[in-house]
Amino acid sequence: ALRLAAQQKKMQQLLGPLQLSHTDLQRVQALMMQEMERGLDKERNAESSLRMLPTYVCHTPDGTERGEFLALDLGGTNFRVLAVNVSQENIDMSSKIYAIPTAIMQGTGEALFDHIMDCIIDFQHEKQMRGQALPLGFTFSFPCQQLGLDKAVLLNWTKGFNASDCEGRDVVQLLRDAAQRKRVGKALKVVAVVNDTVGTMMACGYHDPKCEIGLIVGTGTNTCYMEEMAKVGTVEGDQGRMCINMEWGAFGDNGCIDSYFTNFDRQVDEKTINVGKQRFEKLISGMYLGEIVRHILLALVEEEVLLRGKSSQKLKNRNLLQTKFLSTIEAPGLSLLQVQAILRDLDLDANYEDSVLVREVCQIVSRRAAHLCAAGMAAVVEKMRESRGLEQFTVTVGVDGTLYKMHPYFSQNLHKMLKDLAPRCNVTFMQSEDGSGKGAALVAAVSSLGG
Ligand code: ADP
Repeated sequence: ALRLAAQQKKMQQLLGPLQLSHTDLQRVQALMMQEMERGLDKERNAESSLRMLPTYVCHTPDGTERGEFLALDLGGTNFRVLAVNVSQENIDMSSKIYAIPTAIMQGTGEALFDHIMDCIIDFQHEKQMRGQALPLGFTFSFPCQQLGLDKAVLLNWTKGFNASDCEGRDVVQLLRDAAQRKRVGKALKVVAVVNDTVGTMMACGYHDPKCEIGLIVGTGTNTCYMEEMAKVGTVEGDQGRMCINMEWGAFGDNGCIDSYFTNFDRQVDEKTINVGKQRFEKLISGMYLGEIVRHILLALVEEEVLLRGKSSQKLKNRNLLQTKFLSTIEAPGLSLLQVQAILRDLDLDANYEDSVLVREVCQIVSRRAAHLCAAGMAAVVEKMRESRGLEQFTVTVGVDGTLYKMHPYFSQNLHKMLKDLAPRCNVTFMQSEDGSGKGAALVAAVSSLGG
């Protein structure tokens, strides 16, 4: 019994800091709100960890958009080229996924954009659309300083991309240069660059005019929303609204949420290619949750709470556990015997108690991610309500990302906590299907019609 009590204590010491209270989350919400306000303030923008980037997207779709478009989607797990036909009542799409080898993700910028052009050319060839210079919408899901709808300077790479000579340059120009090198410059008509959050918001906005927020919880996490121009100090003009790409993955990069970080989070961060960056994202998104769990399990073994303290070489392998592991382990109806079998498949000599503990760790990590996401979203909807001077506010969030869509409890935990944290807002979530590609086409549609 003594041993059990000692174990319980160790566990509490290790896992306690991962369990954020309501007060913690309200604090995160308040900090997010403060950082949003600073980010929108011309004078204080540099102090904020939120870039609050203007997107030059001023309207969500009204359903009258029409036309044929080409769209690119770069910035997630897959690179896709799409042909999108927006007609009355529906949007037809055909697309093809192309691999981007790590060597190209982290090679030269020229090679990356050459590869992208090769894919476009291949796609047009396959779809027998050579020679047609369709307006192109480019979903480019990295932080960009937009100087116009079709001019976007890459600020920095994230999510494992690190191609040289791209940061500080206009990605549309990089694409046009590559087209020139391939002698297809005339066939390329880039009309809009959008972030995937914006694409998602637009795609859902086509179906629901109340959709004025876009949320991604996939490899990374980010949000955009429609802000009153009068509140956007970083762009001239006070009329109407503009979509703001928050780049909320970087929330806390100035240290403002450091007190919520655990040693596990720091260990995960240290092994990334962007140490100290994207701190909020590293607590929430698919690229990191598996690693957080692995580090916790390692510590539990170290403390002899797990696997009877038998150190496991296997568990020391980076990326042994993907975020899908959390979804699998937490699946409702999965018995502890099945959990045990999964752990044994990973060569972890787990007994019944170990299975209980591993499941608990997964739940704690995914719940924390969902709750932090809720705290961030609570700040966004409250900010919108305040900007518009409303007592009550009803809004729809367009969402994309495998973690949100596939994890058995992430979305539930997010929705429930958001209700608690923002009681004056009535928020509906709408999953987007193929949102980022569709959305880029819709932005292209709006812009090419001169809208
Ligand atoms: P992206 O955000 O790159 O466009 P996705 O939305 O597909 O792409 O997200 C990819 C992320 O989702 C990866 O980090 C992966 O670990 C995670 N993932 C894949 N399958 C699952 C799953 N079943 N449950 C939770 N996360 C998953």
